[in-house]
Amino acid sequence: MKQPERHMLAVYYDGPGKLALRMVPRPEPGPGELLVRIAACGICGTDLHIYSGAPGAAPVVAPRILGHEFSGFVETLGPGVTGFRPGKQVTVDPNDNCGACPPCRGNLPHFCTAMRGIGTTVDGAFAEYCVVPAKQALPVPDSVSLLAAAMTEPVACCLHGIDRAAIRPGDDVLIIGAGMIGLLMLQLARLSGAVRTVVLEPLAARRQQAEALGATLVLDPLRPDGSPKDDEELRAAFAAAGIRRFASSIECVGSTATMEQAFRLCGYAGTVLCFGLAGPDDVMSLRPYDLFSRELTLTSSYINPATMARALDLIVNRRIDVSSMLAGLVPLSELPEWFRMPAASRAGKYIVTP
Ligand SMILES: [Zn+2]
Ligand SMILES: [Zn+2]
Repeated sequence: MKQPERHMLAVYYDGPGKLALRMVPRPEPGPGELLVRIAACGICGTDLHIYSGAPGAAPVVAPRILGHEFSGFVETLGPGVTGFRPGKQVTVDPNDNCGACPPCRGNLPHFCTAMRGIGTTVDGAFAEYCVVPAKQALPVPDSVSLLAAAMTEPVACCLHGIDRAAIRPGDDVLIIGAGMIGLLMLQLARLSGAVRTVVLEPLAARRQQAEALGATLVLDPLRPDGSPKDDEELRAAFAAAGIRRFASSIECVGSTATMEQAFRLCGYAGTVLCFGLAGPDDVMSLRPYDLFSRELTLTSSYINPATMARALDLIVNRRIDVSSMLAGLVPLSELPEWFRMPAASRAGKYIVTP
């Protein structure tokens, strides 16, 4: 459908549980900005959190256009922009730090005190067009699909996590959860030199994906009757595959039960990465004595500081598969309806296309 000149369709977040499709004036790029014609924008867990009104989600003031995992074509250049031309494919780092505050100057840009979040604190890409600072745009070679390029931001978040998981070549690594994040982590762990990777995942379809992506051992953490396997049963299965010690365990679910499990199953002197996003009031129990006696490092990972270019390079050079875990595409006009569906029927990674 051809839109009237200078207008665009956009999906607005109007408050918890409220999304609406509107025809609005197309934004104009200001100095140093690009207008991007959106080709693809991933739906992130953060968007679902915001929609549900969960406390602790990104600070969003309605009305706001959400969508922060995106790619598209440069449409027009604002005054003073160089290095881009109309029609060029780009993906965008949605986290626009100021570069001048103490965290930015301390090389910790993800804790910028004046952070602008495209798709959270300023309008994002659940729309036909989006204005972005040119410094946030990364050129994408024409040989790369914009669907794949829209996965750059989630891969960049996983890369920051994998850096913090401190994997060395030859290590054995445990990954809990094989949703999109777990499957990305599996691939990044292997790229980091993990020699054996074990994935725990209750859904058969995801276990198959983990196997296809090269996991050494993929286990259902549940017994046939649906009760959870205990640590001894799991350890016996690890031992049967020749694994005695995980140097890193990576939790990609976001529940306290699996975080505690990651902590218990990690080997001595290992690193436990709690990557899944837990609720702000969730509490997990750990025995400090275990932390001491096994000299564990407990770590986490927050957004994507300085990892976008590496993430895009991995995608461009096809060192990481970002396509096989896509569950489906959602037309922009159907997005409000999609959000209203029950959570179970929209599991997996979906990408919005205008
Ligand atoms: Zn995201
Ligand atoms: Zn800053």
